[in-house]
Amino acid sequence: MITERTKKIFGNISGKLWNDWHWQLKNRITDPKIAGIEDDCRGRFAVTPHYFNLIRRFDQSDPIYRQIVPIDADYASYTRKDPFDEESHMPVSGLIVRYPDRGLVVTTDFCYTYCQFCTRKWRWGKSGEQITISRFEKIAEYLENHSHIRELIFSGGDALTLNDETIERMLSITRSIKSIKVIRIATRVPAFMPQRITENLSSIIKKFSPIWIMTHFNHPRELTHESSRATAALRFAGVSLLNQSVLLKGVNDNYNTLYELFSKLQEFGIKPYYLFSCDPVYGTEKFKVPIEQGIEFIERLVKELGGIAIPRYIADVPGRSKLHIAPLRQIET
Ligand code: SF4
Repeated sequence: MITERTKKIFGNISGKLWNDWHWQLKNRITDPKIAGIEDDCRGRFAVTPHYFNLIRRFDQSDPIYRQIVPIDADYASYTRKDPFDEESHMPVSGLIVRYPDRGLVVTTDFCYTYCQFCTRKWRWGKSGEQITISRFEKIAEYLENHSHIRELIFSGGDALTLNDETIERMLSITRSIKSIKVIRIATRVPAFMPQRITENLSSIIKKFSPIWIMTHFNHPRELTHESSRATAALRFAGVSLLNQSVLLKGVNDNYNTLYELFSKLQEFGIKPYYLFSCDPVYGTEKFKVPIEQGIEFIERLVKELGGIAIPRYIADVPGRSKLHIAPLRQIET
């Protein structure tokens, strides 16, 4: 359903246009005033018409609005610009290696919509940077010489905002590296612009399957029928879908919302994989949920929801690897 607020900006849009990702990209809102946002915005802002249309209240009490509208430049002392010191873990430009067996390619600094709790906010100043094939070939050369890396993660920004040709070429090069056995793509496209999952993109992904795609849904309202269609197309392309959510105050920090989110993900054929405690990124004070509260949510979910729908509650701690917080006992299905 297109809301009155959306119609006010874009007029009466045909279904055909709405479902065309080129139209969604062209009409991405980058000026908060055009979106009718009265908050005093600071920081990076952009939203697709699709995601904008999910907003119901135009203030911080709305879980969609709250994720994307930058009002609190809250530089608390414990937060850090690059909390995981990723910049110093780049042996070659564009490749982060924080774990012995995995590498992460920063394919772009571009996203269709910007999350204000983003771990990689420290790169936002490098706006618009995108990987080139020649730079990726240098990464591939490094990987060939470091065969202990067996898994490659395409992230960003959002890897699925790149054009089809670049995605195809990078996947093809990756498949030619003998030591890379597993490919993962991390993306919020199925939430922000599901129209981008076209037949052509799905068939490219299928060619290089099996591929793992990590989606990122934080609220049940994000699981639209367009997202259902997009994730079904990915599943038919041989993709295994896992979801990473972030526990965010004022977005999903209540039991019923989490219950609905994880059950709906399971219905979509997406395994809820991680529920992250919000990373210590600057400007994220307003999103912090006490660890104890997260544990309570998970412990209750373990009792009331089937095991497949239970994610692991995780904190990524600067200077250490990911810490598993809950559930601590065996999950009953
Ligand atoms: S889509 Fe991912 S990379 Fe982009 S702003 Fe959101 S969390 Fe950050």
